Amino acid sequence: MLPVKEAQSVILDLVQPFYPELDTEVVDLLDATDRILAQTVISQLDFPHCDNSAMDGYAVLYTDVQACNNQDPTILDIIEEIPAGYQPQRSIQPGQASRILTGACLPMGADTVVMQEVTRREGNRVFILEAPSPQAFVRHRASYYKAGTALLNPGITLNPPEIAVLAAAGCNKLSVYRRPRVAILSTGDELVTITQPLQPGQIIDSNQYALAAFVRQRGGIPELLGIVPDEPDALKRAITQAISNSDIVLSTGGVSVGDYDYVDQILAELGSQIHIRAVAIKPGKPLTVATFPPSLLSPVTKGVPGGSQRPVLYFGLPGNPVSALVSCWRFVQPALSKLSGLPESQWGAMFVKARSRYDLRANGRLETYCWGQLRLDATGNYEFHLAGGTHNSGNLINLSQTNGLAVVPVGQTMISAGEFVQVLQVAPLKS
Ligand code: AMP
Ligand code: MG
Repeated sequence: MLPVKEAQSVILDLVQPFYPELDTEVVDLLDATDRILAQTVISQLDFPHCDNSAMDGYAVLYTDVQACNNQDPTILDIIEEIPAGYQPQRSIQPGQASRILTGACLPMGADTVVMQEVTRREGNRVFILEAPSPQAFVRHRASYYKAGTALLNPGITLNPPEIAVLAAAGCNKLSVYRRPRVAILSTGDELVTITQPLQPGQIIDSNQYALAAFVRQRGGIPELLGIVPDEPDALKRAITQAISNSDIVLSTGGVSVGDYDYVDQILAELGSQIHIRAVAIKPGKPLTVATFPPSLLSPVTKGVPGGSQRPVLYFGLPGNPVSALVSCWRFVQPALSKLSGLPESQWGAMFVKARSRYDLRANGRLETYCWGQLRLDATGNYEFHLAGGTHNSGNLINLSQTNGLAVVPVGQTMISAGEFVQVLQVAPLKS
């Protein structure tokens, strides 16, 4: 059984990231939020485009006003009004000033802005009551960045600040990585769809919904392939279909050691290479990770941009709903991150150190993930609250509201309330 960290590194080594030339699409800026940039964005313009004022005030020559003060103001003639967006027409000569508003271009000759709070206006004259420092309140052309500078690099996730930069740079169409296609299927004779009447012994297939939500939240495109019975032929057909048009396949169930657990057998029969069969983790010990080499993939996959060169990564996740999601958070997430064009610093699972408010127990042999809530206490420090109720991988009811998984390492049987624990953050913080 593979330790958790080793399993993560085996999985990451199996992933070939998207190719910046092949696996991209062009989107409108308004549709680019949360997408990952696939191009370098070069500024076509200096920013600011012109020397401009950072204040409402008067554009002046520094030499005119350097010695003035409240008792001995400099009096200047106002020759022009320059609102933002207006091209100044007149050049400032000694003894002159132009009224200027924030963001407006400085007139020729002026080198300094005096803010209006230290002036007094009388008709077409202005009294400067305080000497500014040289070049005060002037934002110089190209002082933020010059034309030709790289503003954003590939791998950046586009949030509101980056969207603002792109808009300011006039970039309204841009190249982003395509979203990974993730095929999802559930295996099990006991499963029915959400709309079917439930007969004794049957359960609703919740995993496809949970996994689709997980994939969508992480920027992928889920493709639901339905429920597959525990029959080798049906499984073979379903897996063949799943790998035909996807980057990653997630199946749940059928990977334990039970009589009806056929997934590993079928993966082998279909010619995939199996890299992981079980991981020392609880919940989520039965985990199969396999790859289908490009040579085995159908022509359809070869039509997917970049598809002909990249293996399809297969995760056979446990059927228990809690285990399936924990495996997604711990192992599928890094693979998706690497595949989708994110930089290496963002591939791994994200842990924070928190003080546990509860005793956390484990058997000492498996790295144990206890689900609950990561919160900030009154002083702004992380704390972890274990979910109430039964901690059993079949009980998905108390998984609701989980935003963190506290980890009890191998070799430890308890982390006591009050001690620190590493917590895998899986959703935003709760207060
Ligand atoms: P398995 O890994 O196939 O042995 O399944 C383990 C447990 O998870 C069984 O109790 C199943 O009923 C349950 N289970 C399997 N697949 C699903 C699913 N798609 N949705 C909800 N529960 C499932
Ligand atoms: Mg099963």
